[in-house]
Amino acid sequence: MLKDPNCNKNNTIDAHCHHISAINEANSSLNLSSFYLPSDMVVESAVIGNNKIELYIKSVLDYGICPYCGHISEKIHSQYQRVITDLPVLGKRVVIHFRPRKFFCQNDFCSKKTFAEQPGNEVFRYRRRTRRCEQVVTHHGLMSSSNDASSLLNGMGIPLCNTTVLRDIHRIRIPENKEITNIGIDDWAFRKGINYGSIIVNLGTGHVIDLLGDRERDSFSKWLECHQQVSLVSRDRSTEYSTAIALSGKRIIEVADRFHLIKNMSDCVTKTISENYSDYRNAVRSGNEITPEEKCIQPDIQEICNDKLSGDKKQEVNNNTDSRTIMFNEVKELQDKGFSIGAIAKKLKIARQTVRKYRNYTSLPPRKSSPRNEYFKFDSYVESEYSNGKSLVNIFHEIKNLGFKGSKTPFHDHYRYLSKGRKGRRTDRPKSIKKIKPQDNREPLIPVKTISSIVDKGIRMKELDEKEDILIQTLISIPWFKEIYNAATSFYKIFKEPNGGQLAEWINEYRDTELAKLKTFITGIILDMKAVENGIKYPFSNGIVEGFVNKLKTIKRMMYGKAKLMLLKRKLVLGTLLFN
Ligand SMILES: [Zn+2]
Repeated sequence: MLKDPNCNKNNTIDAHCHHISAINEANSSLNLSSFYLPSDMVVESAVIGNNKIELYIKSVLDYGICPYCGHISEKIHSQYQRVITDLPVLGKRVVIHFRPRKFFCQNDFCSKKTFAEQPGNEVFRYRRRTRRCEQVVTHHGLMSSSNDASSLLNGMGIPLCNTTVLRDIHRIRIPENKEITNIGIDDWAFRKGINYGSIIVNLGTGHVIDLLGDRERDSFSKWLECHQQVSLVSRDRSTEYSTAIALSGKRIIEVADRFHLIKNMSDCVTKTISENYSDYRNAVRSGNEITPEEKCIQPDIQEICNDKLSGDKKQEVNNNTDSRTIMFNEVKELQDKGFSIGAIAKKLKIARQTVRKYRNYTSLPPRKSSPRNEYFKFDSYVESEYSNGKSLVNIFHEIKNLGFKGSKTPFHDHYRYLSKGRKGRRTDRPKSIKKIKPQDNREPLIPVKTISSIVDKGIRMKELDEKEDILIQTLISIPWFKEIYNAATSFYKIFKEPNGGQLAEWINEYRDTELAKLKTFITGIILDMKAVENGIKYPFSNGIVEGFVNKLKTIKRMMYGKAKLMLLKRKLVLGTLLFN
């Protein structure tokens, strides 16, 4: 037997451990060997460095057992070095150094000539991490993307790269469960509108069992062939799944999912409201006369309105909004009450000079503006010269001699309309018009989406606040809404209340409806009658499947859409098995 160099106390410390601060007998006080039970390994020595703890372990046996034939051998072939990472402790990495011996297998009938001893049950063959360390790695890998997992683990003191995390995830065997009886199935999108997959959940345990690469009947048929025990399938209204069940030839109970049925019903209500939105608008606005000002909702319409308003009215509106006039009136009012200049200035937060000026006026004079250039005198001349092909620069110099007082840039700005549309020239800016703050005293219209969510609350018999109640009352006055609202409410009751009524009666009551959407919905129910009735009869629902579809979406996005079907399947199936 070769002598283990680590046994020698005078042996030089490994070159990697430059920062070793202490070498102590941690082994004796902590009984480190107990952490490697139930194997034949003992921790021989421990080196505690600044960042890592190194444990040197060895086997207590002086023989090896061939893993291929079970023969015991004492004849040593050679020895080599294995470095194994364990879980970090007290903020330090833990590294195990193990020097396994290679033995000759002395069994003549064995297929192998040599075998290596293994460091007990804590480490799998060929692995560089202990079993518990690998478990932490796979847990991180299953719960987040491999990139995130490797960053987290590196921070924790388990250095590895993202591909190692992926490899560890792919190494886990997915347990086969043939004893499934009740399943829920739904589709999910790889890329919405482009390609879809299916998710299958065990309704008994609430675990994801499988992901299928598409939502076609063939793949679900194949899956059903492999799972003969399935006796109940909860599904949405997809015909592909129901056809697959019919083709399987087995007596499988189909349950149309309640969630989808009620959702389809409320979609039907939303579409009907959307189609007849004008009726709602008329119901809300009836009796309200629209005045010209009230028409001014959009800014562009408002400008037109401003132009149409009479001059006096425009002045009046401006008087009300002009802060200068308001301030003048304020000063005059305070002056009449006998306030001093200083007091007024302080109260109104304006300059004393302004107050003094206003005190001396009896009425507010118009603002002084800078003298205007008399463009109108030169307009016809400039236009005719420009149309003859003269440049604006030359025309400017000419009219300057004729007595034009303006300067060059304003001149070009003023006559820009002549060169409008030419390359390199700015187009005219729209003239800013003083806008009146839009006013609208009418009842605001509620968008379809909001209406449908309020109506949905009503259908589900939830508490409505005052405004919501008013909306429902307004809508109820419209005959088509009354019909579809009552239909939806009684449909909901059939599912939610034990004595909510019979589906057949409900269909008879509404099958001759004039509302196209409701009619289509009822036709769909009649075609899938058996499954819908089972939806009322059985307590199973696809709610949990929908939940897993949401989880699948987050996993997909967490991995930036790069994960393929197999990885997604592992993440979902193993994730729910290991963590629930
Ligand atoms: Zn052997």
